[in-house]
Amino acid sequence: MTVEYDPSVRQTRAQEAPMTPSTATVYRDVRPFGAGAPVDLVAVDGVLAERVPDGAVVETVEGGGRIALPGLVDAHIHPDKTAWGQPWYTRRPAAGLAEYVRGDVELHDWQRTPLADRAYGLLAHAVSRGTRAVRAHVDVAPAYGLEAVTGLAEARERLRSALDVQIVAFPQHGVRRAPGAGALLAEAAASGLVDAVGGLDPDGFDGVGVDGEGPAQLDQVFALAERHGLPVDVHLHDRGERGLAPLRDIAARTKAAGLQGRVVVSHAFCVPELSGRALEELAELLAGAGIGLTTVAPSAHQVLPFRQLLAAGVRVGLGSDGVRDSWSPFGNADMLHRAHLLGWTTDARTDRDLAECFDLAATGGAELIGLPAATLAPGSPADFFLVAGECLPQVVVDLPARDLVVKGGQVVARDGKFTG
Ligand SMILES: [Zn+2]
Repeated sequence: MTVEYDPSVRQTRAQEAPMTPSTATVYRDVRPFGAGAPVDLVAVDGVLAERVPDGAVVETVEGGGRIALPGLVDAHIHPDKTAWGQPWYTRRPAAGLAEYVRGDVELHDWQRTPLADRAYGLLAHAVSRGTRAVRAHVDVAPAYGLEAVTGLAEARERLRSALDVQIVAFPQHGVRRAPGAGALLAEAAASGLVDAVGGLDPDGFDGVGVDGEGPAQLDQVFALAERHGLPVDVHLHDRGERGLAPLRDIAARTKAAGLQGRVVVSHAFCVPELSGRALEELAELLAGAGIGLTTVAPSAHQVLPFRQLLAAGVRVGLGSDGVRDSWSPFGNADMLHRAHLLGWTTDARTDRDLAECFDLAATGGAELIGLPAATLAPGSPADFFLVAGECLPQVVVDLPARDLVVKGGQVVARDGKFTG
């Protein structure tokens, strides 16, 4: 279905004004969250407004009674590794982090399209599916140098009017296991191109007990964060005490460095293993240290217990993780689909369950990465998308086409196609 949009013939002047008039875009006849009577959403200077300012040039976009939903946040994605838009890549069986990492290098060497172009293609696609912001984790390792950092920075620049992109430089190959990675991570942190510095399994994969050299990984990561005033986002796949001990360590380091609210742990597969009092105590510890968590809802036993965590005051975001990369042929950078998968893996049943899954992809992610929430209310960012449908829970289940995507008040995708 095509949405009417032709500002060249629909521009009108509300009334004459002496100064340069602002431009208001009125998205007519939309239903916020699929509830209540249709309304008009008015976007002025990138945010939603109560009404059209006097003297503004008005552009009108017909919503046709569609549901308006807040733009989504992909709190954890790896655009540097993707083969999205490339010829089909055949993967071999792999087990364990070291084999996956080797597979990353093989796929990287196989790629014929520059990293910046691949990342741009994937992220433009994400925009067309309603994503307003991403936190992009990119590999920093001797095998690639800083190619992923500079490539993502280039893609971010090309997408600057359509998508907020945060770049996390992280040592996928370890810093102790991969000689030279620590220096590259330091170079990335000092480059001015990254928004956060990351780590990876500081005990299990890159711990002082494994074959490696140099200071403990978390010593290096937190030192860089403090030196450059950067947030931290650490991948933590390890389970049991091997995951919980670094998690407690990260909490202690976060408080000691005064980094509360600026540290995230991704995946945290050791957390879903807990229940009862043990889960409550850990959630209290994380909330007290201001540590957020991200999940990609990979399975029923690995998805974070996000409701209990949110209730305890822990910020939780949702992400895509790898998209058609060496680790997996799956993934699509569609955060509405990811909210659907979150509902599937958590056995969502009620309308409230489904709405909470959506909210994690919208508000949860925004809070996690420090963006103002897009609430569709006046004063909030004019970041939203329109879909045909009945109500929000039905949309989470049925995944309708994203007919129109708006970022900063401007149309950035229409009928599933990125328009910039
Ligand atoms: Zn990841």
